[in-house]
Amino acid sequence: MCGIVGYIGDKSARSILLNCLRRLEYRGYDSCGIAVAGGSLEVYKDAVRVEELARVAPQLDGTAGIGHTRWATHGEPSPVNAHPHIDCSGKIAVVHNGVINNYQKLNRQLTAEGHSFVSETDTEVISHLIEKYYGGSLERAVEAALGEVDGSYAIIAVMAGDPELVVARKDSPLVIGVSDRENFIASDVPALLDYTNRVIYLEEGDIGVVTKDNIKIRRCGKEVVGQEHKVLWRVEDAQKGGYEHFMLKEIHEQPKVIRDTLGEYISAAEPEARLAMVTEADLEGMLIVACGTSYHAALAGKYILDEVVGIPVVVELAGEFAYFNQISAKTGAIVITQSGETADALKAMKRLKEVGCRVVAITNVVGSTASRLADQTVYTRAGPEISVAATKSFTVQLMVLYWLALSCSSVDIRRVDSLTMGLRQLPGKVQQVLDNEDKIKEYADYLSKCEDVFFIGRGINFPVALEGALKLKEISYIHAEGYAAGELKHGPFALLGANTPVVAIVAQDSAYEAMLTNIKEIKAKGSPLIALADEGDEVVKELADSVITVPRVDPIFSPVVNTVALQLLAYYTAKQRDCPIDFPRNLAKSVTVE
Ligand code: GLU
Repeated sequence: MCGIVGYIGDKSARSILLNCLRRLEYRGYDSCGIAVAGGSLEVYKDAVRVEELARVAPQLDGTAGIGHTRWATHGEPSPVNAHPHIDCSGKIAVVHNGVINNYQKLNRQLTAEGHSFVSETDTEVISHLIEKYYGGSLERAVEAALGEVDGSYAIIAVMAGDPELVVARKDSPLVIGVSDRENFIASDVPALLDYTNRVIYLEEGDIGVVTKDNIKIRRCGKEVVGQEHKVLWRVEDAQKGGYEHFMLKEIHEQPKVIRDTLGEYISAAEPEARLAMVTEADLEGMLIVACGTSYHAALAGKYILDEVVGIPVVVELAGEFAYFNQISAKTGAIVITQSGETADALKAMKRLKEVGCRVVAITNVVGSTASRLADQTVYTRAGPEISVAATKSFTVQLMVLYWLALSCSSVDIRRVDSLTMGLRQLPGKVQQVLDNEDKIKEYADYLSKCEDVFFIGRGINFPVALEGALKLKEISYIHAEGYAAGELKHGPFALLGANTPVVAIVAQDSAYEAMLTNIKEIKAKGSPLIALADEGDEVVKELADSVITVPRVDPIFSPVVNTVALQLLAYYTAKQRDCPIDFPRNLAKSVTVE
């Protein structure tokens, strides 16, 4: 996965490309490069971060160009493997996000035809194919080149002496930023917010030609007018706003984004709105498919829907979904993906559609591939999430699931009213967790010295244990495991001891007594025990070595306050260990390969 950008207008392309690339580093950052086209083509690339490239890159004159920040899939990060990739004549340059499956075969063919390759990437075949097919029109050459290619791509091609950028996409996102006498291209909207809020999302298979005054898009061979969308995100939303890391900023944005998401949907919890998202057939049972943090939100959704609606819910990992044969066309399916571009989630979605399921997407990105594939899309209102570790997107996914559950609830009206009231109070409750930040920091100091940590929970806090462990491992590199509390005795007990702390997530629900028993068992094994418990829970205070208190909420909402506390715990632990929190090693924000 990587980020690609393009600019064409009256201004110098160099600084605009570098600025846009900076905003895409969350998609990958092992190397980067730019190509600027004037009368000739000038390329500068290296295995460095964008900041460094901006410092050392020469002036590169020209008002059209392309850029790339890479997360290598084929060929190690190196100056020669960095994009843009050029053809033999040195006149055509290409940036690519995706994977070309048949690149070895194409490489052999093109080599036999006289092309010489310099990199180990799959991408380089594209620039040579364009060269091969070029007969006066860059657009036609790109189209012919892509006809040979099997794989996923978002590409931008540029040619010396030709004032146009040619764009195309298949299974990787690409958006055109529209402005006056200049146009932009990027993998994702945050890259464009400094320049424009008018965007056109390219669709699967589109090929476009972008000049400074014109955007031409061809879809299935026919010219179409790309629908322009107005992006409501502000440029500050994609900046750090005084916080040391995007992750901390995004954790702190949670009261606001919860409010924004609820504001969008909570008044819609009326019978008519219910049927907009859920059909009567769905009430027989539901399937939720997701990956990573979204999968944990989906698991929490299972408990929420089970309790509030009283329907059986099956939750599957999107990456495993391909291996199940028995999918009922009658099943209502929800696919959760923050970016709307997660390859595994999209693949699952396509399969669900093929068998005739009605698919609802829950996503944060308007116009994303998921939103276009789904029968219906429910947007979370998290704003751009830049930090690789998902935080605010998780809590707003939960908000949508609460709303969904409430809007088709089978519990009595008094319970619905009290849950609705509880939801409205959540921004304030989350703020209280954030206000307790200094206390949480103290526990992080301790955890930062550990190498193995277990997180345990029961019922609706089991997914919270999984999410707490995921947050800790991905940003602090401490080995962490999330477990259903009752499962520890089926194996992991063997690992407990003085150097293996356990974080126990305790809510005042039907799992409470069993959690107390588990805590006692763990203490007996000599593991230090940190409990996450409601304020005023004196019993847990007695039993645990230390307690992080969270405000009291209806237990069904406990995943929200508990997860926010665990996000802070992971953040400060990683900070203490001096980790690159926003860009953890080997990870990228939206996972566009299977
Ligand atoms: N496959 C290309 C490379 O390795 C692009 C990387 C990507 O988009 O993830 O250079």
